[in-house]
Amino acid sequence: ASAASLALTLSACGQNSEGGSKDEGGSTKGATIGISMPTKSSERWIADGNNVVKDLESKGYKTQLVYGEDDPAKQVSQIENMITQGVKALIVAAIDNKSMNNVLQQAKDAKIPVISYDRLILGTENVDYYASFDNEKVGELQGDYIVDKLGLKSGKKGPFNIELFAGSNDDNNTRYFFQGAMNVLKPYIDKKQLVVKSGQTELTKVTTLRWDGATAQRRMDDILTKSYKSGKVDAVLSPYDGISIGIISALKSDGYGSKDKPLPVVTGQDAEVASVKSIIAGDQAMTVYKDTRELAKVASSMVDALLNGKKPETNDTETYDNQAKVVPAYLLEPVAVDKENYQKVVVDSGYIKAGDLK
Ligand code: BGC
Repeated sequence: ASAASLALTLSACGQNSEGGSKDEGGSTKGATIGISMPTKSSERWIADGNNVVKDLESKGYKTQLVYGEDDPAKQVSQIENMITQGVKALIVAAIDNKSMNNVLQQAKDAKIPVISYDRLILGTENVDYYASFDNEKVGELQGDYIVDKLGLKSGKKGPFNIELFAGSNDDNNTRYFFQGAMNVLKPYIDKKQLVVKSGQTELTKVTTLRWDGATAQRRMDDILTKSYKSGKVDAVLSPYDGISIGIISALKSDGYGSKDKPLPVVTGQDAEVASVKSIIAGDQAMTVYKDTRELAKVASSMVDALLNGKKPETNDTETYDNQAKVVPAYLLEPVAVDKENYQKVVVDSGYIKAGDLK
């Protein structure tokens, strides 16, 4: 092949002959950015994908958006394909945070910067920046809501019964959410003002693979059968709205939700439409709202900065150690939402349309 046709072939693969990631003339506008999201089974990731696309397009980029259907191997091969097709940067919300070493080495070799989106990718140096929320704070908001609603903060002594649920064990956020909640709950558990009748208090005992609501529903069923022959559940720590919906179904099948047997305080996360409706109906107690429109903006700005030789803005450079390095991060603030403030926080902000809650 002549030098000219070789250069052409290389640039069609997304690598110009200098091996750099910039187009000739230094402009990266018009470059394609690869976006890899975990699943379409939850609203938030659909919104995340669409918002990242919108933000990048408004900055003049092209995009390729893929969903991994909660299958880590599928996600890895989708990312490999995007690398081969010559994307100039990657934004990745990992399904299994430890599955990315090889594929991100390929990205590194092709000089493609990588933004870890929402969930931190572990065990590889080839993650440039992390865009997320204050994940420990998410758990603290959930824990705090429980102790407040049970009256423990205003002098009630209990004891109250609580059961604990956590997210997927392959998602790094899971331990931050759980840790945050336990920062608040553990002192009350130690004082026996909160009692976990199932005895399941260790993170490894309470995770929910792939955040699956049906899995959580089965576990709640099981706990009710085995540990609540007498007594009732007063609170359930749930890390995510889809899990909360499963837990509430199990509770309702067991007769909760009546005058004599009210539903426990059940937490959640993501302000998904079904859960905000459940909050309005008085079933789920709260959710944690994270404005994913803002997260999409942060990630898109990070890509734009990197591709233009600038340093992305960060506000946390010490928390998120991914076992290979501390990944510089920009963290957004989560907000607790219940019946009192949902209108102002999620509807007036345009996150959910009032009509969708009817
Ligand atoms: C996200 C949560 C989400 C969960 C399940 C986590 O990594 O931070 O917002 O509820 O995944 O999709």
